[in-house]
Amino acid sequence: MMTGNIERISRFLGFRACPACGETLFAAEHGIFGGGDRITLHWRCDSCDHRFETGLVTIDSPPMAK
Ligand SMILES: [Zn+2]
Repeated sequence: MMTGNIERISRFLGFRACPACGETLFAAEHGIFGGGDRITLHWRCDSCDHRFETGLVTIDSPPMAK
């Protein structure tokens, strides 16, 4: 299915879908460094105003480093 592929590419680029309404979010509102290599991204959906956060561990997910 095409949608799965698009979702994977979107996730790789940092896009997220709103867990409440499914709207695609293109950028986090802000990110907070949790110390070391951890980053917490805070998101707010423009469509339904749902807020959520995601965690990143930068050292474990290098963007095509090798
Ligand atoms: Zn939403």
